[in-house]
Amino acid sequence: MVKDLIDYHIHTALCGHAAGEMADYAAAAARKGLREIGFADHFPLRLLGFDPPAKVTMEAEELDCYVEAVRRLARSQQQLVVKLGIEVDYLPGKEEELRDILSRYPFDYVIGSIHFIDGWDFTHPAQTAGYKTRDLGALYRRYFDLVAEACRSGLFDIIGHVDVIKKFGFFPEEDLEPYWQKTAAVLKETGICLELNTAGKEAPAGEFYPRRRLLELCSEQGVAVTLGSDAHAPEQVGRFFPEARALLRDAGYREVALFSGRRRSTVPLP
Ligand code: ZN
Ligand code: FE
Ligand code: FE
Ligand code: ZN
Repeated sequence: MVKDLIDYHIHTALCGHAAGEMADYAAAAARKGLREIGFADHFPLRLLGFDPPAKVTMEAEELDCYVEAVRRLARSQQQLVVKLGIEVDYLPGKEEELRDILSRYPFDYVIGSIHFIDGWDFTHPAQTAGYKTRDLGALYRRYFDLVAEACRSGLFDIIGHVDVIKKFGFFPEEDLEPYWQKTAAVLKETGICLELNTAGKEAPAGEFYPRRRLLELCSEQGVAVTLGSDAHAPEQVGRFFPEARALLRDAGYREVALFSGRRRSTVPLP
């Protein structure tokens, strides 16, 4: 049972790689007894002048429809609370343009994620060859530097799948502990909310984002946490949530964060 939990990371068919209608995601959430969900589909990066090599986001002209569709769905629900979120890539140098666009929409929260390094989509299953031609230590340093910059940009309420660089199971030889320490410190310093994203369990990495160690460090530092399945199909809503809840408890968490109009509140972890 995943009753009374929240799922703040749900995609829609607009991004071109997710299945089903928005209403199907809401129905799946209601069936599982979730108290609240939020859509966080991929922001159209073309609005920032970046055209990813493969289609991974909604089209620029779909953003208004997306916002309207989520709000309409929210109004139609009896029990389930539906929030309006968005998942945006952190693109260095595009901060002010992004801030301006985001301010024009009534988002409840904005998830900042990193999927690109120098234009390479390192989270894309068809682009994993890139791991074989790069020095993994340099790649991890670059990735976690971008995470730190994203947190410090002040653009985002939540940092998405914070250690997604491990997605395909490529790890540098070196000890990873300094990355976890540094990342937890940046989250604490900036006050950004962490996301426990359960999708990693079904990726080659085979574990949640972030891994237990980083989650524990964040909990020790008092970093707030939210929960998301990164569903790209209705049946993925709330995936592995019983395990996620147990892990949150083990890591010391007793509350989860909620967002409304980009303001954070907390509720007890059910
Ligand atoms: Zn996606
Ligand atoms: Fe993502
Ligand atoms: Fe996502
Ligand atoms: Zn994501």
